[in-house]
Amino acid sequence: MKLGRLDVEIAGERLTLTGRIDDASPLGELVSQLPANVVIDTSGVTFVNSIGMREWIRLLRGLRERGTVTLERVADVLITQMNLIPDLGNNVRIASFHAQYACNACGAEVAPLIDAVAHAEQLQRLKAPPMPCPECQGQMELADFPERYLTLFRV
Ligand SMILES: [Zn+2]
Repeated sequence: MKLGRLDVEIAGERLTLTGRIDDASPLGELVSQLPANVVIDTSGVTFVNSIGMREWIRLLRGLRERGTVTLERVADVLITQMNLIPDLGNNVRIASFHAQYACNACGAEVAPLIDAVAHAEQLQRLKAPPMPCPECQGQMELADFPERYLTLFRV
């Protein structure tokens, strides 16, 4: 199904969002169409504006009242916005997310997927795990302030 410029796919417990979350994406209305326990994949989300963010919050708040919510492969544009509203992480499990990294050796800039379960202990201390560079296999570091990505994980 399409909500404006957002592709919405529901398959069993899995909700996949791809595209832009904006004024034309009434995500809050999806709550009633989803099962109690939901896994949401937003890896393909490329843009979110303030109205889209409000809808994303409505969706998460509606879902977490009814069952378990797991976020997988959270898009860079969403995880940075969510970190401005840390209570959004309550009763929402973030399994993995994308973050902007830069390579110390060759300068490559990429947004690798960070496994939030494997790195849980580091993330709680606001430490982004080093990642291998896809270009030169050197060490990449988070290219931004850790608070922009990791406030949600702080205990
Ligand atoms: Zn490199």
